[in-house]
Amino acid sequence: MTGNFIDILEHEYHSREDIVNMLSAEGDERRLLFRKSAEVRDSYVGKKVYYRGLIEFSNICSKNCYYCGIRKGNRNLERYNLSDDEIIAAARFAWENNYASLALQSGEIEGDAFTLRVENLLKKIMEMTEGQLGITISLGEQTEDVYRRWMEAGARRYLLRIEASDPDLYSKLHPIDGHHVFQRRVECLKTLQRLGYQTGTGVMIGLPWQTIDNLASDIEFMRDMDIDMCGMGPYIEHADTPLISRKDSLMPLMERFDLSLKMIAVLRIVMKDINIAAATALQAIDPMGREKGVMVGANVVMPNITPGKYRDSYKLYENKPCTDDSAEDCKGCLEARLGVANADIGYGEWGDSLHYKRRMHEGQSELK
Ligand code: SAH
Ligand code: SF4
Repeated sequence: MTGNFIDILEHEYHSREDIVNMLSAEGDERRLLFRKSAEVRDSYVGKKVYYRGLIEFSNICSKNCYYCGIRKGNRNLERYNLSDDEIIAAARFAWENNYASLALQSGEIEGDAFTLRVENLLKKIMEMTEGQLGITISLGEQTEDVYRRWMEAGARRYLLRIEASDPDLYSKLHPIDGHHVFQRRVECLKTLQRLGYQTGTGVMIGLPWQTIDNLASDIEFMRDMDIDMCGMGPYIEHADTPLISRKDSLMPLMERFDLSLKMIAVLRIVMKDINIAAATALQAIDPMGREKGVMVGANVVMPNITPGKYRDSYKLYENKPCTDDSAEDCKGCLEARLGVANADIGYGEWGDSLHYKRRMHEGQSELK
């Protein structure tokens, strides 16, 4: 049996059945899976872990995803919006501490004022850092024109999780009100790629109704879409959301955690040269969660550098870790933790997705 499993790990192309087998690994097979994914990480993207300083600049959102604590319909939390100066100061912190990369995230807002605000912020950050900070944004679904403007203003990478790649499951997790259309999300990802963004997506793991087969299709979706980056982690229920009604059907948190590690490991084996982030939600379940993610194949960590007083209000899910800490505390803490995971930190390096570089290079040679 184990012999078979070793063969599966070595396949050049992994079938649906291979992926299901890997996701179902237990005991010795699980150990082999994790050993293989760590090996693949080391040989394809190296031992370094890259930081993206994460600024969650506003929890105001126009959408109503059933799983999310900052959904529009939740009246049980205080809404905040960082000032431009606060955002710039956080960006300066990232730059001065040699993080080399920044990620700006917020609830989803579409409209001219929001577009312009982000555009100006990107320009200011680029100016302040002389273009030396690699900027990722994660601001939801927008039009092609908006994505283009933000790219021209300095953004280089975009994270837009598909959340669940099965349209049926997707429709159970979102209201059917014209603002949560699966196909639009897919089109947005394609637009981002066409515009030349390093494009990232991801899913939640351990969702109600979700099966191992769904998760295997998620991996296939990411491969078919030829994505450059992935950020995925466990689904963690939030009391003030509609999905809390499915609480009793969920697998225990530790199982969701373990399945998330397996998803990272399998994705690393299937898409060897992409960047994979160890999601903060892993840490909400296990204090060493992100480090464990790194051990099984992730190579990006996103330390939270949102000013401490706002962190408590960006609660996508319950138990969100470190909401009382300052950015300075996080830095020291993470360094020590990643040392335990036997990974070096790529300070001062952008840590671009090698997959992206290869994809762009191939695109150019095809044009010649
Ligand atoms: N509004 C943007 C970005 C902020 S939300 C967007 O939706 O794209 C960032 C991510 O938080 C989402 O993509 C989702 O995958 C994750 N998230 C939301 N609620 C969650 C929950 N209850 N458990 C785990 N992750 C959650
Ligand atoms: Fe808004 Fe994103 Fe939460 Fe959906 S997941 S409610 S878009 S912040």
